[in-house]
Amino acid sequence: MAKSTNMRAAGALLAMFATQAGMAPAVAATDPSIAAAGGCAPFRWTTLGTAGGPIPTSERTEPANMLDAGALTVLVDTGDGTVSQMAKAGRSVGDVHHVFLSHLHLDHSAGLAGVVGLRWMNEHPGVITVYGPPGTQELVDGIIASMAAPARIGFGFGPPSKPADRIKAVELKDGETVRIGDLSIKAVANNHYDGPGNMAAKAGAQAFSYRFDMGGRSITYTGDTGPDARVTALAKGSDLLVSEVIEVDQMIAMIAKQRPELNEFMLNAARAHFTDHHVTPVEVGKMAAQAGVGHLVLTHYVIPGPLGDSSKSLYEQVRQQFSGTVDLSRDLSSFDVGCGR
Ligand SMILES: [Zn+2]
Ligand SMILES: [Zn+2]
Repeated sequence: MAKSTNMRAAGALLAMFATQAGMAPAVAATDPSIAAAGGCAPFRWTTLGTAGGPIPTSERTEPANMLDAGALTVLVDTGDGTVSQMAKAGRSVGDVHHVFLSHLHLDHSAGLAGVVGLRWMNEHPGVITVYGPPGTQELVDGIIASMAAPARIGFGFGPPSKPADRIKAVELKDGETVRIGDLSIKAVANNHYDGPGNMAAKAGAQAFSYRFDMGGRSITYTGDTGPDARVTALAKGSDLLVSEVIEVDQMIAMIAKQRPELNEFMLNAARAHFTDHHVTPVEVGKMAAQAGVGHLVLTHYVIPGPLGDSSKSLYEQVRQQFSGTVDLSRDLSSFDVGCGR
């Protein structure tokens, strides 16, 4: 008896949410957290997952980030495990109405189905918009298609809302800026896919770095990139630069040990990919110094073992080039860009 009462109550709750489903997200005119912070709206970057590359690790979750910008909660890359990492941070996917994908390598996007699917299944109100490079529409269409059978099955509370009404894709162009309330986001193509024989160029693919600006404060996120003057220019004067990083020699040594069948040609190809399409700690430091950023945060570690084994070396190499604040993020680390800088 109690169970059926509870189910009816849950059904009514979901139905209530469903009636709001097509509405634009309500953004509070006055965010209580702004008043609590003495009038300074939050502008905070959280590294939900700090792994780099498609090999899952026990220490670091696949790449995913969360930006709190005033009352907005924005996800920036959604690697596998994003929803669990949000829950660990005490946050709900229902708060998210905007996702930015840096590029479509699956380690950066494999958690998107979980974000949009569980958001829909819980009937969180409003539409979620996924911004990204060319191909984002196809990715989102595929996820929506994968929701057809679950939508027919329902959750036991009557017909759910149509997935296609709740999820939208927007493909951005190189150099394009979008505005969401007080937040502006600029996408710039980088060289993560570049190189001879690369399939990506033929497919019209691009990888983006993003800059987020709000009320005179700014955060630049490299996404995946090699050393690229366009990314340095994008980051110019940012308060916070969030960068990927790789240890090339150590990664090659690890691969050679784990995959003895790989010949020198293949190892050299791996080295070229690591060198051209990712950035070493020295290059990250150089980028931060040239861009004149105040604070550098490392994430997306392409390193062979636990961060503790590499942290000293990473820090010292960055330090050769950059004298500002340096942090090596962990999963669920947060970095505030305050107003009184
Ligand atoms: Zn990556
Ligand atoms: Zn990538």
